[in-house]
Amino acid sequence: MNLTRIVYSSADTSSDKNLSKLQQLRDILASAQKNNAKKDITGFLIYDGHFFLQILEGDRETVVQTFDRIKRDNRHDSVHLMDMTPLENRQFADWSMGGSMRSLDAQEIYLKHGIGSAINPEQLSAHTVVNLALDLQEYERQVRHST
Ligand code: FAD
Repeated sequence: MNLTRIVYSSADTSSDKNLSKLQQLRDILASAQKNNAKKDITGFLIYDGHFFLQILEGDRETVVQTFDRIKRDNRHDSVHLMDMTPLENRQFADWSMGGSMRSLDAQEIYLKHGIGSAINPEQLSAHTVVNLALDLQEYERQVRHST
């Protein structure tokens, strides 16, 4: 397998006021987890209510096909590929797609990565996104284990 990682950002376009931001993230994660598990894609999705930051890992061709499908989704636009790189090992191996909605509880994690206010994808590197996602992944794990 040509293990590859894609990191991208995009802007939320949701206008359905009846759908909460959290519900929107849950809907996206549900179909991502279903599809990604079948295609051996792993990764993480960060959502702050305005922007998405996503990491996709897997076979190069499969990841590119999945990214092409995601790009066409009208729940977001301004999709910007931040990085596409070969990978030795997966960093999100346990998650067909983990996800995190930005919350006050996790604010310290964002601050640690220099994000004090709203996410501005133009000011973020792919490196920062991956490290932020790794810390959020660990945080989500701890929250799950404590409930
Ligand atoms: P299903 O999994 O059956 O999902 C279809 C359901 O999704 C519909 O019932 C509807 O409720 C909802 N839905 C689909 N499109 C829309 C829409 N435009 N507006 C509102 N609701 C809609 N897919 C992946 O497979 N892997 C990913 O990692 C992934 N990441 C995503 C990240 C983001 C930021 C976004 C916006 C989407 C992502 N998706 C991902 C979803 C992807 O764009 C497709 O919607 C999905 O792959 C379609 O899967 P499916 O045909 O199996 O449909």
